[in-house]
Amino acid sequence: MYESLGICDQVLDFGFQIEKKLKERFDQIDATAEYNQMKVLKAMQDCRVSDIHFAATTGYGYNDLGRDVLEEVYAKAFHGESALVRPQLMSGTHALHVALSANLRPGDELLSPVGKPYDTLEEVIGIRDSAGSLKEYGVSYRQVDLLPDGSFDFEGIRNAINEKTKLVTIQRSKGYATRPTLSVAKIGELVSFIKSVKPEVICMVDNCYGEFVERIEPLDVGADMIVGSLIKNPGGGLAPIGGYIVGRKDLIDMASYRLSAPGLGKEVGASLGLNQPLFQGFFLAPTVVAGALKGAIFAANIYESLGFPVVPNGTESRHDIIQAVTFGTPEGVIAFCQGIQAAAPVDSFVSPEPWDMPGYDAPVIMAAGAFVQGSSIELSADGPIKPPYAVYFQGGLTWYHAKLGILMSLQKLLEAGIVTL
Ligand SMILES: *Cc1c(COP(=O)(O)O)cnc(C)c1O
Repeated sequence: MYESLGICDQVLDFGFQIEKKLKERFDQIDATAEYNQMKVLKAMQDCRVSDIHFAATTGYGYNDLGRDVLEEVYAKAFHGESALVRPQLMSGTHALHVALSANLRPGDELLSPVGKPYDTLEEVIGIRDSAGSLKEYGVSYRQVDLLPDGSFDFEGIRNAINEKTKLVTIQRSKGYATRPTLSVAKIGELVSFIKSVKPEVICMVDNCYGEFVERIEPLDVGADMIVGSLIKNPGGGLAPIGGYIVGRKDLIDMASYRLSAPGLGKEVGASLGLNQPLFQGFFLAPTVVAGALKGAIFAANIYESLGFPVVPNGTESRHDIIQAVTFGTPEGVIAFCQGIQAAAPVDSFVSPEPWDMPGYDAPVIMAAGAFVQGSSIELSADGPIKPPYAVYFQGGLTWYHAKLGILMSLQKLLEAGIVTL
């Protein structure tokens, strides 16, 4: 079958040799998935999920039982008091925007103690001037960068916390930065430190790409609120849209008043028939995340053994599903992305090319052959065409698809004469 898909014997053998060495790591990933599967199942059973909850509501969505029980399931599984899980949260950025703007008031200060947040948040916060930003509403922002070795600058953080500091935003995943991704245990250390300086500060974690990678989540180590996207890990590939905010009840209530309207809160918001895929996607998420993690580790080991710098490296522990590979040339980035695209179930016949995307300072190439537009729990890759010529890739709804994608990327690099096996 691999031959019929365009993978030559040499590439297949190379992949086979790498995969053989990963058995123990894959067993650990499966054990985590098993634990998290039980966690989700227990939450669903405790909430007495039933087929009535898959019914569609329309209009105001009053008494949408499925929506309310789905939120209860998220709250139970992630150990929060309350949850907002809605198709009306349009993306991760929107969910973060709602969580922040709901819980900050003019005169308050927002602190990021882990360096610059994800690109799209720059405009939400007003780090880059933008109409409607928190800055326009009188919310100031302060940032403490990580130390050069990737550790927290505790002294700097202590000095940055002041009487105005209301909320601290902690991004779990490195996103497209070069810093390491934070483990949940590390997030716990940071939260404890911040609370020791100012106990009433709200600790929010941008949990994107981190859900179900470990057995614990940030609410287990003292965070007050976690936020993420349903077209990443927790949607399990089945959620066609949505975001979540889970945590302390007063913070979630505030978020609900911001999302709908003061006085309305969680009581409105029709689920329009999406409850069933949202439940089912959450049910599948632990095993989907496991497949994506195996793909990331497989790629790290393949490209590391060919001499390319990879982050994380082939052996280190994982705290999100993103893998970076530095090719050092535009041709390498392009061939890799074309391989990922050629392995997709959707749009496999198109060949991606770099283009000048709005908001980026260099041409960017993106590969995505997804069932859900922009879904990055599905196998996807992108890279800016500028030094160091690194590609970021993530996802794969099944390990076998992730594996094919990586073998296909290697095939394209081999055919382009960029690697020799
Ligand atoms: C993806 C991501 C976001 C934004 O989510 P979108 O759904 O793309 O808007 C925010 N933070 C991090 C760390 C992310 O990975």
